[in-house]
Amino acid sequence: MSSEKTDCWICQSLSRDPHLVYFETKTSLAKLNPDQLFRGYTFLTLKQHREHLHLLPDKLRKQFLDDMLTVAAALAKALNPDRLNYELLGNAQAHLHWHLVPRYSNDPMWGRPIWAGTRPRKRLPTDDYAELKTSIQSHLPPPKQSRRRKPQPLSENPAP
Ligand SMILES: [Zn+2]
Repeated sequence: MSSEKTDCWICQSLSRDPHLVYFETKTSLAKLNPDQLFRGYTFLTLKQHREHLHLLPDKLRKQFLDDMLTVAAALAKALNPDRLNYELLGNAQAHLHWHLVPRYSNDPMWGRPIWAGTRPRKRLPTDDYAELKTSIQSHLPPPKQSRRRKPQPLSENPAP
């Protein structure tokens, strides 16, 4: 199973900006867009390099969709947007990644797709990203990896 493609910008981005990551499963990674014109704008990226949702194995697709909805629900609870946009485009970057975009009736593109025309960008002070992450994380389940880890019984340890 291929996991990374060296010429793929999205594969490379998985390890970039770790301070923006706020949720991770074995399947997906959620991180804030550095551009926060739409408060809570999140990229939810499939960790493997795959390009077509309909061609994913059933189990992987289900997990990817479940992760997306888990993050969407947390964004809705944390930020109370007027609408939530879900976009999976693949035009510029084919590697599967969702744009989860909370929309607000006072946002500058309200009533239109965020791609319709030019829009300003908005960077936040570093502390504000951390605060935003904490607020979203308070509505997310704890990481699965740590819940699943079981202590090994002593009897199974090899003798020294
Ligand atoms: Zn990729």
